[in-house]
Amino acid sequence: MSTQWTRRQVLARVGIAAAAIHTLDPHELCCVLPADAKTTDKDLFELKRVADGVYAAIAAPAYKVNSNAAVIVTDDGVVVVDSHSKPSAARAVYTEIQGVTNKPVRKIINTHFHWDHWQGNEVYAAASAGVEVVTSQRTRENLTRPDAGNGGIPFIEKQLATLPKEIDQLKDEVLRATNPETKARLESNLQQAEAYLRELRGLKPTLPTRTISSTVTLREHGREIQLHLLGRAHTDGDLFVYLPKEKVVMTGDAVIDWMPFLNDGYPEEWVRTLEALEKLDFTHMILGHGEVATKDHLAFFRGYLTDLIAAVKKAAADGATLEEMKKGVGDQLAPTYERRMSKYPLGQYRDRVGLNIEMVYRKVVKKG
Ligand SMILES: [Zn+2]
Ligand SMILES: [Zn+2]
Repeated sequence: MSTQWTRRQVLARVGIAAAAIHTLDPHELCCVLPADAKTTDKDLFELKRVADGVYAAIAAPAYKVNSNAAVIVTDDGVVVVDSHSKPSAARAVYTEIQGVTNKPVRKIINTHFHWDHWQGNEVYAAASAGVEVVTSQRTRENLTRPDAGNGGIPFIEKQLATLPKEIDQLKDEVLRATNPETKARLESNLQQAEAYLRELRGLKPTLPTRTISSTVTLREHGREIQLHLLGRAHTDGDLFVYLPKEKVVMTGDAVIDWMPFLNDGYPEEWVRTLEALEKLDFTHMILGHGEVATKDHLAFFRGYLTDLIAAVKKAAADGATLEEMKKGVGDQLAPTYERRMSKYPLGQYRDRVGLNIEMVYRKVVKKG
């Protein structure tokens, strides 16, 4: 099976018509930046050493968000975890990889199906022959499922349908901006959005070639790489990449250094999945977004989910409306979580807490 189909070929194969695409509410999307956010279109990643031959490619804030990547060098080649939102971003990481090793990339692992973690797969597939793309069985299914959520081939069509409108709005805001600094930021974001649209139109979705349905150990030429399926969390197919010798784990978006994105998630199971993750022996986590973290960040992040669920349940039992909860629960949890959950220009506490509360209300209280 070729992994280098055109987008149209894949769409034809999975039977998705562009006409059937609904409009997206930007507030329901992962990782939407304010129109005038301070972003960068160069130096997209910084490669940071985490252990011998193990690196985190930490993404800089770009108008269309990129995930972090992990780079694992083996005696024979390179394994890359997650491939970002677009080919140009994957190319930027690939260039950095070539700065530390001239070995070919042999494997890509996608932690989950969200758009910002897999849309650059094609770059690695094109760079070296026989690249294996590994993910969980469920993530592979989600990549072609029309109703999966914020990622996959149908989501590329959704983005193509909504981006021109977003670009028109940015143009409008550029015209209306009076502050020169704001205007310059809007112009930069407009250029990035236009470039992203061009890339998206030419995307050759490269789907996983190998799936796993339970935890496996890969022996990769001097490197033991364990792929753990610990239960549902940020999505129903989250994969954790664990290096037992180096004591490093790659978490995808199941643990991040921003506020979590719950729309495609399972809040109560997420807590249990993170309890299972905690049982692994590691010191450092390469997160889906944000800087490399030490293990104690896991308890903090899980604590937020636990407290959020408890607070929403209590507010619902006390008869609060959703609007009352958004204010009340947001303020109630702020002293513990607001500062540490607002370190970056993206995914800050106040940007996301309302939507988090709504998601927990819908998924846990209403169970819909
Ligand atoms: Zn992400
Ligand atoms: Zn995600």
